[in-house]
Amino acid sequence: MTIIAIDKDICTGCQECSKVCPVYAIEGNPHEPQKIVEERCVNCGQCVQKCKSYVSLIDNGAALYAQKRAERHLPETLTEPLFAAYNVCHLDEVIEALKSPKFTMIMAAPAVRVALAEDFGMPLGSLTPGKMAAAMRRLGFKKVYDTNWSADLTIMEEATELVKRVTSGGVLPMFTSCCPAWIKYIETQHPNLTKHLSTCRSPQQMAGPMFKTYGAQINKVNPKDIYLVSVMPCTAKQFECSRPEMNASGQRDVDVAITTRELAYLIKYYGIDFNSLPEEEFDMPLGDYTGAGTIFGVTGGVMEAAIRTGYTFITGKELGPKEVDIKAVRGTEGFRTAEIKAGDLTLKVGILTYLKNIDPLIEKIEAGTLDLHFIEVMTCPEGCVSGGGQPKLVLDAEIPEAYKDRREATFNHDKNLPKRKSHENPAIKKIYEDFLKEPCGEKSHHLLHTTYKGSGGHH
Ligand code: SF4
Ligand code: SF4
Repeated sequence: MTIIAIDKDICTGCQECSKVCPVYAIEGNPHEPQKIVEERCVNCGQCVQKCKSYVSLIDNGAALYAQKRAERHLPETLTEPLFAAYNVCHLDEVIEALKSPKFTMIMAAPAVRVALAEDFGMPLGSLTPGKMAAAMRRLGFKKVYDTNWSADLTIMEEATELVKRVTSGGVLPMFTSCCPAWIKYIETQHPNLTKHLSTCRSPQQMAGPMFKTYGAQINKVNPKDIYLVSVMPCTAKQFECSRPEMNASGQRDVDVAITTRELAYLIKYYGIDFNSLPEEEFDMPLGDYTGAGTIFGVTGGVMEAAIRTGYTFITGKELGPKEVDIKAVRGTEGFRTAEIKAGDLTLKVGILTYLKNIDPLIEKIEAGTLDLHFIEVMTCPEGCVSGGGQPKLVLDAEIPEAYKDRREATFNHDKNLPKRKSHENPAIKKIYEDFLKEPCGEKSHHLLHTTYKGSGGHH
């Protein structure tokens, strides 16, 4: 399925997009329309963020604008400029579902709440989880749940898997598996390395089967009647939703993924005044989250969240309030490493951000010269806060500031939440007691883990 496209009627052939593409998937001659090689493209949407050629209502007239808007399945009230590089939108399906008798649920990824407000004129990196929840409720969703909740669930599973691999001679280093662009890259470019990928589904794909099994039970609805929308900073998440194996609940686990930008379109389409909305809570229990869940949005965040919980799983002790900020894994350099002491074990970790930096790492792993236990990889320049589905930054000069402000807002949110470790989330504790029983147990294996294409198979 096509996720990202370049419109040949609009593309001027400036080739700016090919400079940011981490996998060199954009081809073409200068000053001619560019083309995306679909097999190479990992759907990250960095080209969508970079593109500056557009059609607008004012410059190009209503007829062309309306044609392009319709080709992209965008709402007919939209008036924003339409850029040459774009992602195929699925808002029409969401609008239909909201009109239907379906039991609609929605969730949003960690990085959405630090960027959405930018599309309503608020400062870069404004933190608005409460307004976001309120807006999603005004749209008519019956349950406003949260991907941050399932990020906490992911940590329970992933930290357990890591400890098992480290203590029982499993394949190391283990790679994180929450970035679908990274997964596609490994499956297609280095299939011999898929055995290094954690078998954990991403938070989005853990939420789907949980909401449609456990969530169906607690809401007393038939899973078939649930329609789940996921709001992501990411264009590759729709690719992940449509993977054939993502149906552990007996139907599509997540019905559709839309981007942060598209949630803003939807809020405007329904005439909701975002800025004057009150701060509201997510629906419980599947909207409860900790600081560890929210830092998934920044580079190093999954690693930090995993260490906060892995430390306890290894030592039986808790990191104190001063130790919970694991500064050694923070930063924005393309590749960084750290050593973390957990009892007798020294956990050696690496963080790779922006897939453009990946080649030296792959070479070392293939040569067996990399002595690390766990590596986080995110495709976008600074992790999901800089994702291809985030509000568009038309001025290049704004980009570093926006990334920094979104990152700082994420860490501030973490700092101010009452609980900061995934295993302390009461809703997560309860789902293990009532439903899943234990991390990496039989139910988890079926609902929360996956397998990959490639000769590496799964462990
Ligand atoms: S979506 Fe990402 S991988 Fe695909 S062409 Fe654009 S920048 Fe390259
Ligand atoms: S880094 Fe985040 S936003 Fe970018 S492709 Fe990966 S999951 Fe999507």
